[in-house]
Amino acid sequence: MHLKPVSVNKVLGEILPIIKSEAILHNIDVVVEKTCKLSKVVADEELLKQVFLNICKNGMEAIGQGGLLTIRIRQDEEQDYFIVDVIDTGPGIPENLRGKIFEPFFTTKEKGTGLGLSICQQIIKEIGGAIQMETGPYGTTFSIYLPATML
Ligand code: ADP
Ligand code: MG
Repeated sequence: MHLKPVSVNKVLGEILPIIKSEAILHNIDVVVEKTCKLSKVVADEELLKQVFLNICKNGMEAIGQGGLLTIRIRQDEEQDYFIVDVIDTGPGIPENLRGKIFEPFFTTKEKGTGLGLSICQQIIKEIGGAIQMETGPYGTTFSIYLPATML
C-alpha cells in the first residue's frame, strides 16, 4: 500500500470514462452527484480506483441492459467521513444471499470470481473505512465510507 492524501473527487473523475464506456454498451445512464468540494482521504490511489471500479461494475452487471447507475459523493453530518454511494437500478440481492456477498469466492455469476467485494472490503478496512450495502426490489446501494483527513 502506498498511502497518501488523495482526492476522492479526482479519483472518481479519472475512472468515470472507463465506467461510461462500459455503461454505453448496455444502455445504462451514469449520473454523478457531488455534494462536497474537498474530499481528501488517506489511501492508496490505485487500490481506491479498483474499489470504485469493482463496485460500479457489479452495479452495471446487476442492471444488465438499460438502467441508471448513480455515483454520489457526500459527507456524514459529523464530517468524519466522505461517503461514496454507488446506486444501481438492478433487481436487488435476494434476502438469503445478503449475508454472503462479502465472502471470498461467493458469486452468482457464471464467470464470476467472487473476489471483488471481499477484496474491496479488505482494502477499505485497511484505511479505517467500511462498506455498507442496502438492497431492495428496485436496486442496490453500496456506500463506501472513507475517513476524511485534513492533510
Ligand atoms: P463477482 O462479481 O465476481 O460475482 P463480487 O465479490 O464482486 O464477485 O460479488 C459477489 C456477488 O454479490 C455477486 O456474484 C452478486 O451475486 C452479488 N452482488 C454484488 N453486487 C451486486 C449488486 N449491485 N446487485 C446485485 N447483486 C450484487
Ligand atoms: Mg464483482
